Amino acid sequence: MAYDSENIFAKILRGEIPCTKVYEDDHALAFEDINPQAPIHVLVIPKAAYVSMDDFTSTASDAEIANFFQAVGNTARQLELAEPGYRILANIGDDGMQEVPHLHVHIFGGKKLGPMLTRD
Ligand code: 5GP
Repeated sequence: MAYDSENIFAKILRGEIPCTKVYEDDHALAFEDINPQAPIHVLVIPKAAYVSMDDFTSTASDAEIANFFQAVGNTARQLELAEPGYRILANIGDDGMQEVPHLHVHIFGGKKLGPMLTRD
């Protein structure tokens, strides 16, 4: 799938849509999810244009991949989630029910999160 530069997270990165920023470095931005599914629900995105985790891990450099996962860990530590624990999740494609076609990792925390998946 080609990257759509009009997706909502691309607009956030360009400053065209506001976000509540949690963490930022040269390569990544983390901000609160607009529709939180847990007391803490933050999205971490690379600043470069990648559609999904599949796109990212098949085309990004080793350094970009390392930087991005460091940003996820840095964000969680900044949120003081390392000790109580937290969950990360990335939806990919149709079956993963990915809504926004710019790679993002969800960070959930702030309570016991329960089972990983609901039953059908
Ligand atoms: P996905 O289903 O693609 O993994 O997750 C997309 C996430 O983006 C959802 O949790 C949704 O609430 C969040 N989201 C969608 N639009 C916006 C927005 O404009 N701002 C923010 N902060 N989050 C958004």
